[in-house]
Amino acid sequence: MLLLGAVVLPTRADQPFTFASTPGKLPKDVLPRHYAIELQPDLEKFTLRGSVVIDLEVLKPTREIILNAHDLEVTKATLLGANEIALKPRLNLGDQTVSFKLPQTLPPGAHRLALEFTGQIQEQAEGLFYVKYSAPSGKKVMLATQMEATDARRMFPCWDEPAFRATFELSVRLPEKFKAYSNMPIESESSVSDGTKGPRFATHLSTLNRIKFVTTPPMASYLVVLVAGELEEISGEAEGVQIRVITTEGKSEQGRYALGATQELLKYYDDYFGIKYPLPKLDQIAIPGGFSGAMENWGGITYNESVLLFDPKTSSEQTKRDVYVDIAHEMSHQWFGNLVTTAWWNNLWLNEGFATWMEVKATDHFNPGWQMLLGAASDKSAVMSGDAHHTTHPIQQAVDNESQADDAFDSITYQKGGAILRMLEDYLGPEAFRQGIHRYLSAHIYSSATTADLWSALERESGQPIHRICGGWTEQPGLPLLKINAACENGKQVVSLAQERFTVQDSRARPLEWEIPVTLATMQKSTATNAVETRRLLRKKSAKLTLADCGGILKANFGDTGYYRVLYSTNLFVKLRQNLNQLPAADRLNLLNDSWAMVEANRSSAADYFALVGALHNEHTLAIWDQILSTLYLIDALEQKQSGCAAFQAHACRLLQPEFKRLGWEPRAGESANDGLLRAKIISGLGQFGDQAVIAEARARFAKFVATPDSLSSDLRSTVLKIAGRYGDQAVHDQLHELALHTSSTEERQLYYSALAGALDPKLAAQTLAISLTDETVPQETTDLVIKVADSGEQPELAWDFARQHLHELLSKVDSSARNDFLPSIMSSFSDTARAEELETYVRKNVSGDALVKARETGEEIRFKAMLKQREIPVIDQWSKPTQPTNPK
Ligand SMILES: [Zn+2]
Repeated sequence: MLLLGAVVLPTRADQPFTFASTPGKLPKDVLPRHYAIELQPDLEKFTLRGSVVIDLEVLKPTREIILNAHDLEVTKATLLGANEIALKPRLNLGDQTVSFKLPQTLPPGAHRLALEFTGQIQEQAEGLFYVKYSAPSGKKVMLATQMEATDARRMFPCWDEPAFRATFELSVRLPEKFKAYSNMPIESESSVSDGTKGPRFATHLSTLNRIKFVTTPPMASYLVVLVAGELEEISGEAEGVQIRVITTEGKSEQGRYALGATQELLKYYDDYFGIKYPLPKLDQIAIPGGFSGAMENWGGITYNESVLLFDPKTSSEQTKRDVYVDIAHEMSHQWFGNLVTTAWWNNLWLNEGFATWMEVKATDHFNPGWQMLLGAASDKSAVMSGDAHHTTHPIQQAVDNESQADDAFDSITYQKGGAILRMLEDYLGPEAFRQGIHRYLSAHIYSSATTADLWSALERESGQPIHRICGGWTEQPGLPLLKINAACENGKQVVSLAQERFTVQDSRARPLEWEIPVTLATMQKSTATNAVETRRLLRKKSAKLTLADCGGILKANFGDTGYYRVLYSTNLFVKLRQNLNQLPAADRLNLLNDSWAMVEANRSSAADYFALVGALHNEHTLAIWDQILSTLYLIDALEQKQSGCAAFQAHACRLLQPEFKRLGWEPRAGESANDGLLRAKIISGLGQFGDQAVIAEARARFAKFVATPDSLSSDLRSTVLKIAGRYGDQAVHDQLHELALHTSSTEERQLYYSALAGALDPKLAAQTLAISLTDETVPQETTDLVIKVADSGEQPELAWDFARQHLHELLSKVDSSARNDFLPSIMSSFSDTARAEELETYVRKNVSGDALVKARETGEEIRFKAMLKQREIPVIDQWSKPTQPTNPK
């Protein structure tokens, strides 16, 4: 039995990388060293023919070769050599592999396997996919790839596990008007005959262009990229590397902002990592749909164009920031992920946690006015909320199949991973941390690594016991609660610290402990600039420390860099609330987040949270209003169909009004860009909560916008469209739909569809749902539409019925990474316990066992909201009474 007070060590510590011990399904005695791939896509039938010659290194005598192939037919297989041996492929659908039994034992050494194959090109972003889009010169189709996590095997047979690094030499035959981009520059181009036989092509045998790319450095298969179409580009240079932004016809100038960002970030990363970007070029490629987000393919990063393109005339400030952050994220992967690769998906957080942390650091470096660290603190608090529930999981967790690999791309991996690294950087100091990163990358360059390898490098550079400190954060689920109390003894402040696991409605949670880097600050009243910081690593269940000053304000998690909640004794908390406006913004935000978390955990009531909100005075910080608004939106969802709903909404409007009065509808000369964003958010809130004057003005501005698009500023467009769509009638609905159908901008199209989906009128919501079955939207947007009808349109019942009626059709439009999320995302708008069971039962019966993990997480979220509703709505209804002053100051 373990002694109380001793830190419980993780049961299975992560091990340094070795190829042999890396998890995976493929045998490790046959290694691919080089792939020479030849592809010929058919853009009419959306089929693919290809061949690949793979240089193998056999480590142990073997009678069988097994590699990955999925939705491919291997039509010919030959073991090359003095005597060519024809092999018979055996496809294993469940394992997504193809295997070849050999007539005799293959001795260790170099061998060559030649395969010919055929496959499909789908519209979902899995492997090679096509995108249909409109360009000034007409309807077009282009090709792109999305391989991560396990879809390279859909484009060519390969060892599709990240530890199997190899070089790739790709050639592709395309129509002459197509340009093509891959990881490396083009080596050669030549004309070839179509080569297709048969009556269909006999009359118009066309000439194709064969494009051959330079061989890549050794890399993981999930980083292979191919994009081809009638594309245009702009280019520049940074640090001797060619930088290009690639777009569809007529959009290349909208890549100018991305080009500049890429140039400055490349230099920043070269310096930060202390290792030069290793490829001769870096392409930033805008795809007009098909997948959301972005993918860090080495040397050829792909983005949904809405997060790469920025049109200074029509794009919003928010889009500008999203573009910068996404570029910073994907570029950091070029080193952290691509040059050094996570050995297996159980350590995916190494890639994604790091990039999530780095995107903030790098973006903040160039754009300090954006207050990136405050935004990251909000993301951290959101993931901490989920991490407190019993459905959470450790950052590092076993991944045994493809579906689990897709599930690994979640907020624990990204946001918790990023937050742990921020805490660690703060604890070690930025320079020691940076040197540890440099050591890690240098030690594993062109190879794979594990979390243990990162800890070792940081430990060597910092001299701190990083394995010991960090194991608890990545190998245990959940997070700690730090309880803090203080007493004045002989003129000194004696502070008592104690930790326990912080949970939300999880009474059976395993008790856990962490080594917590605690940062305390004491400040004199009236100014926080004289804060005196004290840092301690809390290694035990509790500790006491003595601070010099008795009279000051004591704040824990100073600067909000720690991944823990804080519960203050009443007298400490009252003092913090009384002096709230003197604290730095990061600490005001941290107190609000922790305060709401205590409500969720039933450790305090909503009245306490709103008392803290009420203590804010002249608060203009964007991230703080984001915090307040997101809490109000959550409550608003719980208030739906409740008797106190109207009073709550009226009170929420009263809370927002002072800030709206300051900001107004029109930008003021010299205002900060954050004020522009805040204006849009405050107006959106007022619109949502039914402020009649705001709704009327938004409608008038929408009508004007339809007649004169330039009349509506890009920063207010999302807000005005959303309000117009929410309260709109059939005519507004039709206008929005027309606008969606006729724009060539993905950014704009998404705004119009979001506005459509937000309609409160069930008749209009039903029309929006019907759109998802047509082909006017691209995959991903389709299912987003259904999810948004449930969420922002407040029609979860309609959306749920619709999703069940058309389940097969809708799921076929989602790519594998989003499939398990689709039904849970619709149901997460409910807050009645019965719905949680309904979701879990339905997914178990109608989808797959793999999808149950996400369904259970959402089921837990629904049950939590039901409990919160029952407990806190009466408190909130009391708070909402008009007589209650909103601002006690
Ligand atoms: Zn990433």
